[in-house]
Amino acid sequence: MSDAVEAGHDGKLYLCATPIGNLQDITLRVLETLRLADLVAAEDTRRTRQLFSAYDIHTPLLSYREQNREAAGAKIIKRLEEGETVALVSDAGTPGISDPGQHLVALCVERGIPIESLPGPNAAIAALVLSGLPTDRFCFEGFLPRKTGARRKALEAIARDERTLLFHESPARVVDTLGDILDVLGDRRMALARELTKKFETVLRGTVSSVRSTIAAGEVKGEIVLVVEGAPPGAADTIDEAAAVDDVMRLKEQGLSLKEAVAVVVEEQAPGMSRSALYNAALKRNA
Ligand code: SAM
Repeated sequence: MSDAVEAGHDGKLYLCATPIGNLQDITLRVLETLRLADLVAAEDTRRTRQLFSAYDIHTPLLSYREQNREAAGAKIIKRLEEGETVALVSDAGTPGISDPGQHLVALCVERGIPIESLPGPNAAIAALVLSGLPTDRFCFEGFLPRKTGARRKALEAIARDERTLLFHESPARVVDTLGDILDVLGDRRMALARELTKKFETVLRGTVSSVRSTIAAGEVKGEIVLVVEGAPPGAADTIDEAAAVDDVMRLKEQGLSLKEAVAVVVEEQAPGMSRSALYNAALKRNA
């Protein structure tokens, strides 16, 4: 018996990373664990069946997704407590990242059930290392809110963060999201990583405005990670908001709209400043 899943031991949860596109991106240990586990809990059973058929795996599957996580989680815990081994897989990539896996792990931690992580693909990390942006410190934000107001608020909360920022995004919203990133974070360097490890893998590198123009010109498809440069070091501390508002007012008197004046001031004098924060401060001054 292999030691990938140890026979005769107490129940254990194995967190198994699976491919994010290319089916060859799977470790020998994950394949062995999926074969030998008593049960595989899968976020998307259809997708996992495709993986199983590619590797001739026949382990029973149980659906474990956001919508059924309470009931399915209870079933999985029961089986683990009865001494079975369960492998958890996401629809793709590392389970627990932007999927309900974290809840199952928390339940196991609470009950003292052993857990083991079998590392492998992760879309955000693959995008980060391809981006050309600093990798020494980064901040994973998952999916931003769908509605623009909430999205801008979420961006404002991280506008001064100097770490490289990582976001998941859907093709349907990416142009709008990049518009909000441009307004709130400014025209930073960025990379858009699309369809990683798949046939149409593309990485667009440039500034937020250049990447946005490129994708707005065509139809956007596929799975996307956005990697955005952090705020300039120390910029947030040195920006004098009152002086920036003075400059905005001066430009307004010269005939620019408030939005245009804010854009000019941020771009030319205060690249670390949030456009929306400056816009709101200028509005207050006008009131
Ligand atoms: N657990 C996964 C992981 O470890 O990468 C993340 C799952 S999350 C629900 C799905 C999001 O991951 C997609 O909307 C997209 O933002 C990103 N993603 C997944 N596969 C990708 C790929 N091949 N290329 C680019 N982004 C991908």
